[in-house]
Amino acid sequence: MDNPFCILSIFWHSRRPSRIENMPVVRNSFWLRKGYAALTFFGTVIASTKEDAKEFENKKSTLRNHEMIHLRQAQSTHDSWLLFYLLYSWYSIKLLPQNRKTKNAIYWLNPFEMEAYDHQDDLHYLDNNEATEWRQYARMKPSERLEIAKQKRMYL
Ligand SMILES: [Zn+2]
Repeated sequence: MDNPFCILSIFWHSRRPSRIENMPVVRNSFWLRKGYAALTFFGTVIASTKEDAKEFENKKSTLRNHEMIHLRQAQSTHDSWLLFYLLYSWYSIKLLPQNRKTKNAIYWLNPFEMEAYDHQDDLHYLDNNEATEWRQYARMKPSERLEIAKQKRMYL
């Protein structure tokens, strides 16, 4: 089993989102649910497998773009990882009632994930963009978000 405490060191050495250009990637599957390739944790990408880590290092990968969108989003939350994760958790908690009807709604309808999933295929999304679309999703009701997610085929 992978050492779960690796996140302590990452947290300890974390830097402000705006100071990070290239996120380092480490391989550790402990914090990843089955089926999830990677996650961004305080400026470091934690990849589930060696292949996923490699995929992240490929500059043209969707996976990389997805995580880089999260980095840019964290810059938009007063350049604070802490605020980013607080907001991320808050939006997830608010989606808990929805979770009964829509599988994994706390993840898929999270405003930060919706922006990332909607634009991860556009490798130029971050060229001149601040990645603040999540704010629009955050203002919507969960039902409205679900409609958009369905229309855009983000996951359903
Ligand atoms: Zn994500």
